[in-house]
Parts: sequence; C-alpha cells; structure tokens
Amino acid sequence: MYLLVTGGCGFIGSNFIRHVMSKHPGYRVVNLDSLTYAGNRKNLSDIESDKNYRFVKGDINDEKAVSKLVREADAIVNFAAESHVDRSIDDSRPFLKTNVLGTYTLLQAARMHGKKMLHISTDEVYGSIEKGSFTEESMLNPRNPYSASKAAADLLCLSYFSTYNLPVTIARSSNNFGPYQYPEKIIPLFITSLLKGKKVPVYGDGKNVRDWIFVQDNCEAIDFVLHKGKPGQIYNIPGRNEIPNIKLTRKILSIMGKDESAITFVKDRKGHDRRYSMSGKKLESLGWKPGHDLDKSLKATVDWYRNNRQWWEK
Ligand code: NAD
Repeated sequence: MYLLVTGGCGFIGSNFIRHVMSKHPGYRVVNLDSLTYAGNRKNLSDIESDKNYRFVKGDINDEKAVSKLVREADAIVNFAAESHVDRSIDDSRPFLKTNVLGTYTLLQAARMHGKKMLHISTDEVYGSIEKGSFTEESMLNPRNPYSASKAAADLLCLSYFSTYNLPVTIARSSNNFGPYQYPEKIIPLFITSLLKGKKVPVYGDGKNVRDWIFVQDNCEAIDFVLHKGKPGQIYNIPGRNEIPNIKLTRKILSIMGKDESAITFVKDRKGHDRRYSMSGKKLESLGWKPGHDLDKSLKATVDWYRNNRQWWEK
C-alpha cells in the first residue's frame, strides 16, 4: 500500500509513520508536512533514509501539490492540523485555514482521483459530558475554536461520503501522550517544566477530566481503522484512562520524585470543557482495545523526555 500521510512531522503523525513502516514493511509512505512550529523533521530522522519513505515539505492547502501526491497514493491519512486549544482561543484563523479548508483540499483531491481517506479527529468535537460517554451517534457540541474547526472538517468528510460516495472514514481519539509531543500540551509541558526545576501550572480547580491514550495505542487503532473501518463510518478511540488533571499531575510528580509544592494553580482556560468521555464499543466489537497501562506508559514518557533533552530544549 502507498500512503499519503499529512502532518507526519507532528506528534501523532510521526509515531504513526514509524508504526506503519515497522508493522507493514512493504508499505510506502509519503509525508506531506508544512513544518509549522509543531512539525519537526527530526522526529523521523531514524527512517529518513528508508527507501519506502519520502518527505515533502508543503501545505495541505496547496491544491496542485496535493493533487499530484494523491494521484500517486492509494490512501490519505490526514493528521495535518493546528492542534492546540489555547492557541485557537488567541487566534482561530490558522485553525480554520488548515483544519477546515485544508481538509476540503484533500477531500477534493481524493474525489478527483478516486482515493480513500482516513481523517483524524478528536473526542473534543462532542464537547463536555457530566455522566456517561459519547457514542459515534452523539450530537456534536464543540465549545472552542479548535474543536469547532475539527467538527466542521468531520461534517465536511461525512458530506463527501453521502454526496459523492467518497470512501472517507473518521477516527476520533481521546487525549494522546507519549514521545515527540510538543511541550505546550499538558503532559510534556509538566514533565519538561519539572526537569527544568520549574513549577507546573494547573488550570482552575484541576478537576477537569480527560481520557488519556498512549500514542502507540492510538497509532495501532488508526492502523486498524485504516484496514478494517468502513467508508462513511466514525470510530471512537478512547484510552479508557479517565482522570482529573490534578490526579494526573500528582502521578507525574510522583514518577519524577517531586511533591505538591511544585504545583501552581492558574486562572482557568476560557470555556474549559469539564469532562471528555467516549464509548469505544464500536471499535472493540471489531476486535480492537488499548493495550498500554497508564502508569507504565507515563513513566516511559517521562524517561523519554529525560533522555531526549536536546529534542525539547531547543
Ligand atoms: P501536532 O500539532 O503535533 O502536529 C501537526 C502537524 O501538522 C505538524 O507537523 C504541522 O507541521 C503539520 N501541519 C500543520 N498545518 C499544516 C498544513 N497546513 N499543511 C501541512 N502540514 C501541516 O498535532 P498532533 O497532536 O500530532 O495531532 C495530529 C492530529 O490528531 C490532529 O488532527 C489533531 O486534531 C488530532 N488529535 C490529536 C490529539 C492529541 O491529543 N494530540 C487527540 C485527538 C486528535
């Protein structure tokens, strides 16, 4: 199979490309990434010289470049996005451009060349839930510009399935963590702050609940959906690790041998969703479930940031 992966120099995309190339040795991958602040070509320096891998610097909004690459590939896996909620609250324009218009450009090229597409989305499109869990049929209720742009892209994908019969599938995962995550997101931010001897900023009362998935589990699930998912369908990928931010923070402190004096509570994020929770029954009924333990993979993540200072210090 020949895959066009977009945003492959980011956190999940780079882990996914590494996963695919080791799990499916015959596969070819072309990675289209515009290298924003979040993209780093060095995330894949270990496979850069593999004959089955090629990097192309470019924007998913570039119709000509996208069309050429889509024509050559068998399928598109779209990770490219502006992905940080706080940045979207400051300025949502780049989020609309990449997450909505960029997805549109990929869909048009897929349609023109008759190719299938797997679009990577997020649990944030469902919004917050007090009790219970969202299923793939739940209403969308995005509550910040990032999640609104992701929800818009999801709806556009589904419209291309019903209007043009385009074989497009959506994978919605919960919060990822692991190696190569840009240290603006909570887990790498906290680990790197503690490694620098700084305090960690916890939003509000720290009781916002997130469901954490180790990035390797998510990559395996995305690979699973790519091969077993049906066109026009949505698949939730939960981590089954729901935990309030303050408890997560305490876990990180304990792994790193620090105490609660390293916590500083800061003013809450605007419109901060209280709890995210998705049911993974649909994917589990097809035979997938996450395999990594939260504590062990958190420890592995701390070790990775400890051993790769040169990667995050710059
Ligand atoms: P990231 O910010 O680490 O990486 C995004 C990548 O996309 C970067 O390499 C960047 O250079 C590239 N990119 C941005 N705009 C581009 C453009 N216009 N053209 C080409 N490349 C562009 O993001 P991530 O955390 O790896 O997330 C990947 C995908 O997964 C996103 O779609 C995100 O919405 C989704 N997602 C992320 C999480 C999470 O916890 N990180 C959870 C659920 C879903």
